[in-house]
Amino acid sequence: MKTLKDLGDLKGKRVLVRADFNVPLDGTTITDDGRIRAALPTIKELRTQGAKVILMAHLGRPKGKVVPGLSLAPVAARLGELLGINVPLAADTYGDDARAKVAAMGDSDVILLQNVRFNPEETSKDDQVRSAYARKIAALGDVFVSDGFGVVHRAQGSNYDVAADLPAAAGLLVQKEVTALSRATVNPQRPLTVVLGGSKVSDKLGVIENLLGKANRLIIGGGMVFTFLKAQGYEVGTSLLEEDQLDKVRGYIETARRQGVELVLPTDIVVNAGFPAGDTPINPEVVSAEAMPSDKMGLDIGPKSAQLFHDKIVDSKTVVWNGPMGVFEVPQFAAGTKAVAQGLVDATAAGAFTIVGGGDSASAVRNLGFPDSGFSHISTGGGASLEFLEGKELPGLKVLD
Ligand code: AMP
Repeated sequence: MKTLKDLGDLKGKRVLVRADFNVPLDGTTITDDGRIRAALPTIKELRTQGAKVILMAHLGRPKGKVVPGLSLAPVAARLGELLGINVPLAADTYGDDARAKVAAMGDSDVILLQNVRFNPEETSKDDQVRSAYARKIAALGDVFVSDGFGVVHRAQGSNYDVAADLPAAAGLLVQKEVTALSRATVNPQRPLTVVLGGSKVSDKLGVIENLLGKANRLIIGGGMVFTFLKAQGYEVGTSLLEEDQLDKVRGYIETARRQGVELVLPTDIVVNAGFPAGDTPINPEVVSAEAMPSDKMGLDIGPKSAQLFHDKIVDSKTVVWNGPMGVFEVPQFAAGTKAVAQGLVDATAAGAFTIVGGGDSASAVRNLGFPDSGFSHISTGGGASLEFLEGKELPGLKVLD
């Protein structure tokens, strides 16, 4: 993978940077600016070198149309605050305003182009459409830096096709992500513990398959755990269940047993009358994972499991975590996720290498009050980090070779 050094002297050069600024918004208020902060090292390095920094990114899913509510204006403002400079936002991605703003740039200036996904070509499945569009973007710069780790698993105009038109290299964030995720998958320090949660088993099949051959221990919680419990013959009440994955999950349980991978499942569960939304009352109750009431829904791992998961995590040299243990957005069902986060924090303090994978898990730990410094690495890419852990070749990285 090419890095900034391979691009030579960047003084006065127009450097197009694909960043990941897909931040959670409440109206125009950014509720977690972690992804913007994660892009700062590359931006600062390029400014130090005297480059003209032209940033591009997507926000939300405007589906190829201009959606004013998904303008990158809040991002430009926040970036300006963090850098202590004015960061102008171009009204378009590659049109008249973008060209005019680039032409007016001085060395070490920073501008942001408008949401690339306002252009239908950005995510077109037609390679020719995408590359014609990418050439128009490429015309704005002299070199290309790929630093949006959150999109490297996709072949899109602004992160993939543009790399064919300009000298291209990975930015510092992409480099850091690849180094961290490789440390967990290539000759990891052992024991290697993988903690998976979140709503769906079907989202995590590839990761389970790839990591079953590598991990010493697999800890499962979240909505996906009920398919594991059901596969072992237990009642799961009205909890999330993917019936069509039961055979696969039985296969994983068998593979884990055969390969000596320790599979850790919860022994107790916090249940409620139903999902905590609308008029459903919140009356949490702890039950045994082997005897769930048929009319209740499991929404978190129980306190004994939380302690067990915590201790298993602390007893590890490398930990990879993706997905919450319960419906952490509701305080009554957040304890399991907190215990796992605390386990990673304690493991880090004891010298382990710990990774929080995925945009949602990253926001979860921050919103639950854990500082970034408690973990060795918080990945900025949900899908990208999962696909990396699946062992897949990521197109946005391959183009940088
Ligand atoms: P994912 O989108 O797959 O990363 O899953 C994250 C979502 O899973 C969060 O919004 C959680 O609220 C949800 N979740 C976690 N555990 C459960 C559960 N036991 N039942 C329903 N949803 C859950």
